Amino acid sequence: ENLQQSLDRLKPQLCQLASVDAQMQYVVERFQLGDNEKKARELLVQLLQEVFVEFFPDSQILPFGSSINTFGVHSCDIDLFLDLDNTKVFQARAKSTTEQAGEAMSDDGRSEDSILSDIDLSSSSTNEVLELVATILRRCVPSVHKVHVVGSARLPVVKFHHQELNLHGDITINNRLAVKNTRFLQLCSGVEDRLRPLVFTLRYWAKQKQLAGNPSGAGPLLNNYALTLLIIYFLQNCDPPALLTVDQLKDMACEEEECVIEGWDCTFPSQPIAVPPSKNAEDLCPLLFGFFTFYANFDFAGSVISVRNGRALPITDFLSQNKAEEAMHEEKPTKTQPQGPKLGPLNLLDPFELSHNVAGNMTERSHRNFRRECQDADKYCRSLQYQRKSIKGKSWGLVRLFTPHGDAPRATTEQLTISIPFKLASLPETLRNELHMAGDGFRLLWFQKVCSAVEGVFKNVLRCDIAPSTDAVFGQDSVVDAAGEMETSLNTSTNDSFDSSEAQDPAVVGAKRRLSSGSEASASPQGKKARMTKMRKPELPHWICAHKHMVWAGRRRVRRELIKDTDCRPEGSCMELEAQVTDHIIEKEPELKETLEFKVQPQMVGETESTKTVLTLEPTSDKTGVFHDLFHFLEIFLPKMVETLLEKEAARA
Ligand code: ATP
Ligand code: MG
Repeated sequence: ENLQQSLDRLKPQLCQLASVDAQMQYVVERFQLGDNEKKARELLVQLLQEVFVEFFPDSQILPFGSSINTFGVHSCDIDLFLDLDNTKVFQARAKSTTEQAGEAMSDDGRSEDSILSDIDLSSSSTNEVLELVATILRRCVPSVHKVHVVGSARLPVVKFHHQELNLHGDITINNRLAVKNTRFLQLCSGVEDRLRPLVFTLRYWAKQKQLAGNPSGAGPLLNNYALTLLIIYFLQNCDPPALLTVDQLKDMACEEEECVIEGWDCTFPSQPIAVPPSKNAEDLCPLLFGFFTFYANFDFAGSVISVRNGRALPITDFLSQNKAEEAMHEEKPTKTQPQGPKLGPLNLLDPFELSHNVAGNMTERSHRNFRRECQDADKYCRSLQYQRKSIKGKSWGLVRLFTPHGDAPRATTEQLTISIPFKLASLPETLRNELHMAGDGFRLLWFQKVCSAVEGVFKNVLRCDIAPSTDAVFGQDSVVDAAGEMETSLNTSTNDSFDSSEAQDPAVVGAKRRLSSGSEASASPQGKKARMTKMRKPELPHWICAHKHMVWAGRRRVRRELIKDTDCRPEGSCMELEAQVTDHIIEKEPELKETLEFKVQPQMVGETESTKTVLTLEPTSDKTGVFHDLFHFLEIFLPKMVETLLEKEAARA
């Protein structure tokens, strides 16, 4: 079911209700987890508990996240925390008794009674334990399939699918804080009745506008947890406040409720009854409107949002904090300082783990879209169409608010560039002399070499599906052609290629969009050729690249693992190592929901001294919104890699 179909099914019921408040309540009823679904989840938890306790004595499996935080919708995933603390105690005890009994230590002190025979929790890595968890799931839990470890996530996790229940599940092991923040959301929900309708409505709105709701939690969109905290923060800042701050809640807790996890204070009352009701009596309809107004005008650039204090903290405090840490690291690189939050376009601190920006994954673009949708919604909420039921049976209230934004890209085609400066040293010595004699031709040859190195990086290092989209192969002839065209544009002292000047012509952009709008024909090479002919103007040679995996994410971690495993040195075999990293990611990480496709067009620009190759990147299909992340990665990675390749080649010659 796509976004429009989803709304079409919701529309008739919403339109016939009497008020926006009733519509919001209806959204809750329509989407919330039913009793049967909750029961099924409980049974799955019980089943897993029974299995895991066989392998990990005294372990406990605890659900958290939307299955139990009161904001779960039909078919939301089930998040589980496997608590192994007691198992560790068990193992330690077993070890010491075998030692006391003077038994041979060849079995490493592991208990014979337990099947936990091939892993020592006190010394094994998270990923090793998760691999074992994955094996147990595969072998011992009926109806579970698609089991895999995602080791590169912020919190490594085992993913699985339960076929019979049609449920996706995640199991983590070092995630006590998430269990606690789930309790916190439950508390807020219990204290403030209006929170659930707001959260359900805004989660659906964000999904329809493609701002949130990526089921894997990866990618640059707002995740549901962050969106919920934004709502809580808004309620803390209403006048009068509709929710207390985390600090205020802490003061209402009793002694038994005091709790510190990983050094973070997680104290708050366990029961809603301990918290006095708020004085804010606003209806849902104006509250929802208020949310949009609040964030449409919010100073995101200057603030760090804190639900702990219920205030926006000046970002400058954090900038200097990060600087101080960096300086410290320079002096003593081994010293591990508590890190400040990763700052980005939207900074929202976790209520407990205060050094964690829960929206740290957002890109400028996804943030811009969020802000713009808040502004649009704010404008719409001012109209009578939002507030009053239509007597003519037209769409009103939430229906218009939920209308998905079209598939057309929001910004006109965006182009981003990467420059690779000219470096004589990257050419072999013999060639250098020859080239000097050949006059300006050396720049061309250098450009050609850079082009083939770039192609090599995309093809052999990043394992991109890559196709030159014209007849242009980047051989001598086409490069000369391209350079010829380049010279022309240089003479008119502009760096614009034909392509980018066309992009400013709305008619051409429209035609392009129509031609590339997903029809089978335009996706095939023939289709592309047809497009070229229709465009008539000559296009510079370029590649069309496609990625099915996020080969740019989590590379550092994989690289570290690989270096540990083998003896290969990063400097000597850079290209091979990077290719291995890519292969590892492709093998272990799930595919993108939609393939990312983008165009790369190389150009040579600048005068003799300042010659450089400029690569223009432009997404041609980016439904999952990951292009920016790839770009930021390539910005650093590509010039470095190209240089390595050229130097290697020069050395070989
Ligand atoms: P849904 O699964 O319906 O999208 P959810 O609340 O379960 O909603 P998940 O992404 O599955 O969201 O995350 C599960 C839980 O993990 C969250 O409820 C929260 O407790 C915790 N969590 C998720 N993302 C973060 C984050 N960025 N920082 C801290 N905790 C998080
Ligand atoms: Mg979840």
